[in-house]
Amino acid sequence: MNKTVNVLSVSGGKDSAAMWIYATKELDVEVLPVFADTGHEHPLTYEYLNYLEQQLGPIKRVKADFTERIARKRIYVQNHWTRKLTLDVEGHWYTERIEDDETEREPVPKWEPEDKAVEGLKIGGWIWQPFQKGMTETEATFVVERALTVLHPTGIPFLDLCLWKGRFPSTKARFCTQFLKVEVIQEQVYEPLLLEGNDIVSWQGVRAEESRARANLPEREDGKGFSVYRPLIHWKVDDVFEMHRRHGIDPNPLYKLGMGRVGCMPCINCSKSELFEIARRFPEEIARVAEWEQLVKLASKRGAATFFPTAHGQGNGIHEWVDWSKTSYGGKQLDLVKAIEFENVPACSSAYGLCE
Ligand code: SF4
Repeated sequence: MNKTVNVLSVSGGKDSAAMWIYATKELDVEVLPVFADTGHEHPLTYEYLNYLEQQLGPIKRVKADFTERIARKRIYVQNHWTRKLTLDVEGHWYTERIEDDETEREPVPKWEPEDKAVEGLKIGGWIWQPFQKGMTETEATFVVERALTVLHPTGIPFLDLCLWKGRFPSTKARFCTQFLKVEVIQEQVYEPLLLEGNDIVSWQGVRAEESRARANLPEREDGKGFSVYRPLIHWKVDDVFEMHRRHGIDPNPLYKLGMGRVGCMPCINCSKSELFEIARRFPEEIARVAEWEQLVKLASKRGAATFFPTAHGQGNGIHEWVDWSKTSYGGKQLDLVKAIEFENVPACSSAYGLCE
């Protein structure tokens, strides 16, 4: 017999937790909470998910596996990189922007610079990739061997995705959500449920006030093979915390430790103030990302990869951005007040007024 399964995506953040509480405690609806683990969350979030399980019931945990993709990449690197790396690359325009619902791809600029080796040119979202002389056979062999030393799955989805791609995702090329969340839930949760003949309602904890794009989303709509329900679409942030309070369930403790949002730490969309807060409270997370940068760099054809974009993917990577987070507006001068704040971390600070 056809059954309707309410799949609720849990991130460890306030909105999905409020939605789960609402479904279970107020609507008395049976839900299947699913957590797609990126391997790039703070340990407190993993602890919080255990806490939620004790309060509300089990969570189905899924994670992306890049073993096969990395194995195929190894073969590709062995068979093609040496030849590719020894070829000259003509100057050309490139863009990181990917098309999504909010943006349309801009046309490639018709104009090209006379000096094809010129650096630093930008037109709209297009960046001029200067002419590059091909490597010597020896240099190319070195790059291939270097990549092969790190092209092994680590079991950490976020890192493996970056090793496979040879780069980190970015605000313009946000492939992390697709590979670490959407695809894995589709394959490991939706497809088996659909094969068993179930109908799926995907509960999404998004709110209209979060962004312009979200403001236009309907409460219900049909998705690809399932329907979508957004029960929180008209909720305010206070409603979210009120739902926690009303049922005696704590929000993720990271909200009292200066975090405005919970998810990957840091997220590629992280703001300057969030990065400042992460760096002063959780330097070990910055150190972990700095280690990942070194590994992904080796898996990259250009030998360059940084978590947040830097000129040509070189420089001091995430540490450079942490230094920038301590500067005042404009990013040029070290802000002395911020420098003092960096060293004197308050025990509790919350953008949502959660500290007593
Ligand atoms: S968008 Fe941010 S939170 Fe989402 S998968 Fe990418 S890094 Fe993680």
